[in-house]
Amino acid sequence: MTFDLIVRDANLPDGRRGIDIAARDGRIVAIAPAVAAEARVVVEAEGRLVAPPFIDSHFHMDATLSLGLPRLNQSGTLLEGIALWGELKPLLTHEAVIERALRYCDLAVAQGLLAVRSHVDVCDDRLLAVEALIEVRKKVAPYLDLQLVAFPQDGYFRSPTAAANLKRALDLGVDVVGGIPHFERTMADGAASVKALCEIAAERGLMVDLHCDESDDPLSRHVETLAYEARRLGLGARATGSHLTSMHSMDNYYVSKLLPLIAESGINAIANPLINITLQGRHDTYPRRRGLTRIAEMRALGVAVALGQDCVMDPWYGLGGADMLDVAHMAVHAAPMTSREAIRWSFDAVTEIPARILGLDGYGLAVGCNADMVVLQAADPIEAVRLRAPRLAVIRRGEVIARTPPQTTTLALPGRPATLDPADYAPRT
Ligand SMILES: [Zn+2]
Repeated sequence: MTFDLIVRDANLPDGRRGIDIAARDGRIVAIAPAVAAEARVVVEAEGRLVAPPFIDSHFHMDATLSLGLPRLNQSGTLLEGIALWGELKPLLTHEAVIERALRYCDLAVAQGLLAVRSHVDVCDDRLLAVEALIEVRKKVAPYLDLQLVAFPQDGYFRSPTAAANLKRALDLGVDVVGGIPHFERTMADGAASVKALCEIAAERGLMVDLHCDESDDPLSRHVETLAYEARRLGLGARATGSHLTSMHSMDNYYVSKLLPLIAESGINAIANPLINITLQGRHDTYPRRRGLTRIAEMRALGVAVALGQDCVMDPWYGLGGADMLDVAHMAVHAAPMTSREAIRWSFDAVTEIPARILGLDGYGLAVGCNADMVVLQAADPIEAVRLRAPRLAVIRRGEVIARTPPQTTTLALPGRPATLDPADYAPRT
């Protein structure tokens, strides 16, 4: 029997070792030790980790790679970032948004990141970014799943045309309903926006993902309304609260009441550690809050928590590189959560968990799943997080679409080895 592709001698994220993965017609058709068959393409994993692709559940592709346009964010704060984005928006062109997004997707593919949920700002009456990213979604579909969220950056009620624009964007084919309740003028308006947006999602049978309580204000409690509305409308796991940073600063007694509501509602949570720890706590002197949501406590109640990137080289964040292992690594440090179990979880939070939140079909390493995989220069998921390991091969539907040479160093030290592979330092278990 001849396959399109076989990956030989893989370590799988679930701990199995020495596994071959065979693909035909874009799907995994065998996954077992020593699959006896020929293949058009053979990828030797050589005892390294082979994982399903990385997924970024929270991103802004309309703003990415715009760093410096029309000027730099001098303070590095969220509010200057929002103001700067307001300056840039009227200057955007259809072609420039597409070009930046495509260039970003190249980088994403190189990093094994093959699915992205991107918010797209609908508070520009031209809907220029919406139309551009719908075009990008189609262009990249052969190699990257792009899911778009209609995001009223300037506030669903606060911006006079946002409500109409959001509906126009959904009519154009944007996938998910977005919002930003903490940016409305009052708590009451914020809560009303959550209700209105959840009702739109329920009516249209869509998912909803709100920027929710991205604030240090412990009284920013819109996640409570989101959970309540998701339950009332039967949205469950179709609803997601992104950021949830105010939960970091909330009163513990209140949180003890809030968390069971979140768990019962079935909503998902997405933390964005790179951005949360740099943009939150900025009004503090010392002690200075980290602003990361309560990941461990939500996990303990069975809430699906994913980790997103949010920004790469845009008005809010001048760093980043489409590396979801960088995101997992930062979460481990910032939470902090350094148990072996929690570090291992951080890998799932940028792979399997967001796959479920985005509702991706055919994701995973099993017979019948899409033949989408990443070969990493690491022995296992914890090692991948530790090393932010190079992606040696990225496979989409059974075709290798990116290759990176392994990182090795040649040493010239008396009596010491001539070459060094950082992955060789894995603990012997
Ligand atoms: Zn965001």
